[in-house]
Amino acid sequence: MSEEFDGIDPSVPPSGAGCVECDAAGGWWVHLRRCAECGHIGCCDSSPSQHATKHFKASGHPFMQSYEPGEDWFYNFSTEEMYSGGPELAAPTSHPIGQTVPGPADRVPADWQSHIH
Ligand SMILES: [Zn+2]
Ligand SMILES: [Zn+2]
Repeated sequence: MSEEFDGIDPSVPPSGAGCVECDAAGGWWVHLRRCAECGHIGCCDSSPSQHATKHFKASGHPFMQSYEPGEDWFYNFSTEEMYSGGPELAAPTSHPIGQTVPGPADRVPADWQSHIH
């Protein structure tokens, strides 16, 4: 692996199909992001709770990969750099295709658009 991706651990599977903190609290999200170091799944900055950014701030793990189907870009929170691709992470590399955006469907309020960032 190239040095620019130092900190990524491709062997760690994702924590689950949804944002860890939102699932615990009964929340919902717009898009999902995967920590490329520990596998934590968190919600994006458009989501009400922005757990992916909070995970970076709490853990110091800089790299995340999109956890949306068909997307394999990476982002480094420390340097604010985007990468169109990177190391192949342990499967699955996205949430289930049937899982809605925003999701999960049974927790998204009717006025969800007024809650996003
Ligand atoms: Zn969340
Ligand atoms: Zn992490």
